[in-house]
This record gives sequence, structure tokens and C-alpha cells, in this order.
Amino acid sequence: MFSPEKILQDYFGYKTFRPLQREIIEHTLSGQDSLVIMPTGGGKSICFQIPSLGFEHITLVVSPLISLMKDQVDALHANGIKAAFFNSSLSEFEKSQLMDDCAGNRIKLLYMSPESLLHAVKTWLRKIPVSLLVVDEAHCVSMWGHDFRPEYQLIHHLREVFPDAPMMAVTATADKITRRDIAEKLGLRNYQLFLASFQRSNLKLSVRSQVAKNKKEKEIVEFIREREGESGIYYCLSRKETEEWSAFFNSNGISSRFYHAGMAAAEREKVQDGFIRDEYTVICATIAFGMGIDKSNVRWIIHNNLPKNIEGYYQEIGRAGRDGLPSDTILYYNYRDVVLLNDFIKDSEFKEVYQEKIKRMLHYAEASTCRRNIVLSYFGETITENCGNCDNCLSPPTLFDGSVLAQKALSAVSRAHEAVGINLLVNILRGADTLEIHEKKLNLVKTYGAGKEHSFAEWQHFINQLINQGVLEIAYDNHLHLKLTDLSGRVLKGDQKINLAALKERVAEKKSERKQKSSLTADEQILEELKVWRKQIAAENKVPAYVIFHDSTLTEIAARKPQNSKELLEVQGMGQTKFERFGNTILEIVASFNDSPKKDKRSTFEQTFELYQQGLTVEEMAVNRQMTENTIYGHLARLYEEGKPVNLHQFVSEFEVSKVKEARKKLNHTNQLKPIFDELNGEMDYRKIGLALSILAGQI
Ligand code: ADP
Ligand code: ZN
Repeated sequence: MFSPEKILQDYFGYKTFRPLQREIIEHTLSGQDSLVIMPTGGGKSICFQIPSLGFEHITLVVSPLISLMKDQVDALHANGIKAAFFNSSLSEFEKSQLMDDCAGNRIKLLYMSPESLLHAVKTWLRKIPVSLLVVDEAHCVSMWGHDFRPEYQLIHHLREVFPDAPMMAVTATADKITRRDIAEKLGLRNYQLFLASFQRSNLKLSVRSQVAKNKKEKEIVEFIREREGESGIYYCLSRKETEEWSAFFNSNGISSRFYHAGMAAAEREKVQDGFIRDEYTVICATIAFGMGIDKSNVRWIIHNNLPKNIEGYYQEIGRAGRDGLPSDTILYYNYRDVVLLNDFIKDSEFKEVYQEKIKRMLHYAEASTCRRNIVLSYFGETITENCGNCDNCLSPPTLFDGSVLAQKALSAVSRAHEAVGINLLVNILRGADTLEIHEKKLNLVKTYGAGKEHSFAEWQHFINQLINQGVLEIAYDNHLHLKLTDLSGRVLKGDQKINLAALKERVAEKKSERKQKSSLTADEQILEELKVWRKQIAAENKVPAYVIFHDSTLTEIAARKPQNSKELLEVQGMGQTKFERFGNTILEIVASFNDSPKKDKRSTFEQTFELYQQGLTVEEMAVNRQMTENTIYGHLARLYEEGKPVNLHQFVSEFEVSKVKEARKKLNHTNQLKPIFDELNGEMDYRKIGLALSILAGQI
């Protein structure tokens, strides 16, 4: 008997299905079509990966991202599931082997790009029995979606070639029109719609409005430093900004790369790969980056500008915290963004639709109520309880009677003939002595200097609220000048009271506080040790670290400290295949901490360093610390990179380092061990290559 629960446990190491997963799997196994809408990180893949194991023939998965297919297939292999991808990068030999495997039912899942699909269907693929058709990122077929891809229009041919196979369309984003359009364009039959909740309670949502550039830079650097070693994505509107911010981060000692559609495909792939493989932590990108990125430990997302719609925004922030651990998102915006966005779409056929979407986005950014609920209501979900994890919930505004302040501002706008923007208005109210004020004779306005007692930032904050409350309006089509509205007169006459929220300084959350939020308290030393081990295994296998284990799995191990196989198998993410491959090593690592004195508060690296300073050999250190020699080498390399006086040349000669340097140059400066190992024809072992890389990293 095919049991989805058993497959979930044995292959994926998870105990329970998330909402809808089970229903979707059963519906699909019964041979029917479906449209699955789940937020990014919601767990869509399992919905078709599990049925694929219940079918006799292959499951064909159309996915737009060639660069991602390999990692997806690697992740399936790591879980003991046979899968492959087909695209133009394969050699003829590999292709024919793959065709054989498909025909012989030796693989369960075949991933394919829409571009390769048409040709394949016309030639070999039509002869192969297919049990299930899956269209990933299905919104790409619709012009109403936000990422239309013409190649997707070809997919409906699949329906004609494989009329008996059920089809599953999967996406993280689709409003009602897009949904209907997807079903129609793909030719879904009697399909069932599965709409999962878009709630992602581990994401903290915050918005920062109108922050001056230098202040913003300072805030952001502080924010990232507070999260050292944690990955994040910095989204910008323009290519140029991605480059500038990346340079800015690097000059502040934060390792970063940029990514945008103007770069050569190979370069983009390299940058994306490096990010996935944790070679650097921050990526500054346009929204061209990240679709389908399956990196589970992205800990934060910052938007440098207002996104163009809520769908896109929610998908972008959804890339954080796929492992379910707490993650931060911050959206910075100012009113210029709105002008830019409107400018982008001014010639579009769908201008009105897009304009409406920008408005809804702005409405979200300016809101003073629970942000998660605004997003959820946008996706048609109504929840009355507040999330408790957005800036508005966490520090609700304190209100005061701002009627007089409002009158001062409105009066100034009126007397300046509604021809000033926010900054100039603030300057008038604060009695600033600038050239512009004098040239425009704004110092003669009656309320010039009437609001001196409030800072520039406070006034900006007040005026934003007046705009939100409909007392002032911004003319997006006219230099962002402020205009009076129907309500303004009543406020000026004193017929309408205005409540304003005081400006609060953003309080940076300390790392220790964040750590406490996660429900499990991991033993930091075990966790570090597990990460060192994972990094090594990932490099040897040439896969991203998360393919070996997600952070959440390692964290759970370090918290529960399993002492035997049974306890280890209880951990989420520990399937049979991974257990067989790594179970013993992990139990050994955990056991090695059992009798180590718990009082030792020093990090595992510091302890190794002390032994090193006492002059112990690597072998002696390994015995003393009950660790493998490789782990000790890993510690020494890290200590060296941290600038501690460790002499790595004891273990790898100058000559060997220069050989690695040469090899690395040929390989586009990769930091991966396996390609370098191959380039050197296997003449140098992984350990030496790793040490040489640490030395080279210090030379840059
Ligand atoms: P997406 O919907 O973005 O495609 P994925 O399918 O990549 O999401 O799943 C996101 C994460 O959630 C993955 O790390 C996956 O292993 C995990 N996951 C999926 N289903 C479950 C489950 N039932 N229990 C625990 N974790 C799960
Ligand atoms: Zn909230």
C-alpha cells in the first residue's frame, strides 16, 4: 500500500503534512488536475514529489529556472529519490542516457525548462509514458501575472501529447484573474483549486518610510553586522543601485555581490551559486534574482525601494526563512519611488491595472495597522487577530492631538500655493534659512518657523500621516507637490480633530533577543561543530549546504542532542537516506560533547586555539578534543581567517598554495574544493586545498 505519510517520514524525514499537502497528494494520485497556490516556502514541491513515487511512470516538471534544476535534483538524490533534469547543457551522450532512463522508468522525476520542452515533445519525449505533468511557477503563463514568459505558452502542447496524465499547476502568487488565466492557458480540466494560507508567521514585517540616505546606510550596516554570517538579499529597483550598494557593503567589510539582468548569464549563475553556497552573505539584486531560489537559510530581506505590487513583494520576502526559523524583512521607501514606478508603466497596455497595484502597495507601506493582515486580505484571506510580529503590532503608535500641527502645515501649503513638496514644506515650518526659501519668498509665509520645536524627521513623519489620513495629497504627476483635499478645509476651520502618532526611533533588536524567540535553544558549540562538518561534506559533494541538511535540522539536533538512532530519526528533516549516510557521524559529533565540561563557556574554536598555543600536534588535539583531525584542521583554518596567529604553512607549503592559486584562477576564482581538486588531477587532498584557500583568502 502506498502511504504518503510513510513516504514523508522515510524520504523527507518529516512527521506531519502541512495544511493541504495531504489533500493535494491524494487528489493527484486519483488522477485529477489541480491548481495549487501556496506562498513561497509553503511546501509546494512535496505536493508533486510524493505522488511521483506512487505513479508507475515519470513525472514531468516544467520549471523556468535552469540554474536551479541541478540543486533541486541534488536535493532529491540526497533524500534517495531518483530524479534528473534535461536541458541544453547536457552532452549528446548524457541526453541519450537520460532518455533511456526515462523509458525504462529508472527515474521518477524529470525537470525540464519550457524552452527545451517543445523540441523534446516533438521528438523523443512523446514516446515515453508520463504519469503526471507539473507546471512550476505557473503564473508565468499569464500576462496578468507579474512575470510573464512567452515560452510558457507552449506548455499546453503537453496536454495534447499526454492526454491521460493529470496536470498540476503550481504557483506562489496569483490573484483571481491570473488564476483563471492559468487554468485556461494550460488547459486544466475540471481542476480543483487548492489555496493555502499565505500566513508566514516566522517573517517579521517592517517598513521604514522616508529615511535620509546617510541615516539609512548607517541603519542597514548596523542591521547586517548584528547578523554576521547570516544570508540576506538586498533588493533594488535599478541595476545601478545594486552595484552601488554592493560596493558600499564591501567597503564596510560586509562581503557582497550584485546581480541583475544586465550581466552575462554565466556571470549571473556564478554569483547566484556563490550565494547559495554561502561564499558570501549579502546579495544586492534587482527582482531578476531569486525566483525559485531554494536556499532555506536566507535570514533577512531588505527592499531599497517600494516594490511595484504586493504579489511581487510577498514573493520576494517569502524567500527569507523557508526553514521556518525567525527572519526579518524591512521595506524602505520614499515618494520618489512611486514616481519612478508610475513612469515605468506609463506606456503599458495594462497601465490602469498596474497603477492600481502600485496604489495598493503604497497603502500597505503607509499603514499603521497590522501589516500581515493587510497582505492576507489582499490575497483574499481575512483574519481578525493581529500578527504580533510586524512593526505596527510590536510598537503600536502612541497618539496625541495633532490638530494644531496639522493646521500649521495645511496653512503653509495653502499659502505656498500648493507648489511645495514635503521637504520644502518641512523647511518652511522649521524656519530654515535656505536659498530656495528665500528665492521663492517662502519666508514670508505666515507659518514660516511656526514648527521649530519639532525635528525635520518628526515633521516628515507627521506629514506622511496627514497624507495617509487624506488631509493632504501628493501629486505624483506634478513634482510630488502637496495638494489640499476636501478634508483640509474642515481641519483648518477646527471642525475636524486630527490624531498623530509620535515619531519613535527604530530600536535595533539585539542578537540575543532574536535567538530567544526561536522555540528551540540549540547548544551553540554542537551547532557550530555540525556546521563545520556540513560545510566540508557539501564542498566534497559539490552541493549547497542546505542540500545536506537545512539549518533547522542542525539546530534541532543541537537542541535535542540525540543519543541513539531512534532519537536522531525523530528530528525533522532526517529521512532514511540521510540517516544511513550521515547518522553515525552525527551521533558521534553529538556524543563527543557528552562528557566535555559543560561549564566551558568558550567557543569550540577558542578551545582548539588554546591547545594549539600549547604546542599540541593536530593528532593530539583531535584526541584531546574527541574530534576528527579534519575538524581540527577546519578549526585552525577558521582561526587563521579570523586573524589569530596560526601558522597554516606548517600543513601546506608555499608551493602547494601557489598551485591552488593557479588552479583557482583557471576556474574563475571558485572557492569550491571539488573543481580545484579535479583541476589538480587529484594530486592534492581536500584538506590541503581547504587550508590553501584560507591562506589565499587572507592575501586578498
Ligand atoms: P515552495 O513552496 O517555496 O516550493 P518548498 O517545497 O521548497 O517550498 O518547501 C519549503 C521548505 O519546507 C523546504 O525546506 C521543505 O523541505 C520544507 N517542508 C515542506 N513540507 C514540509 C512538512 N510537511 N514538514 C516539514 N517541512 C516541510
Ligand atoms: Zn502585525
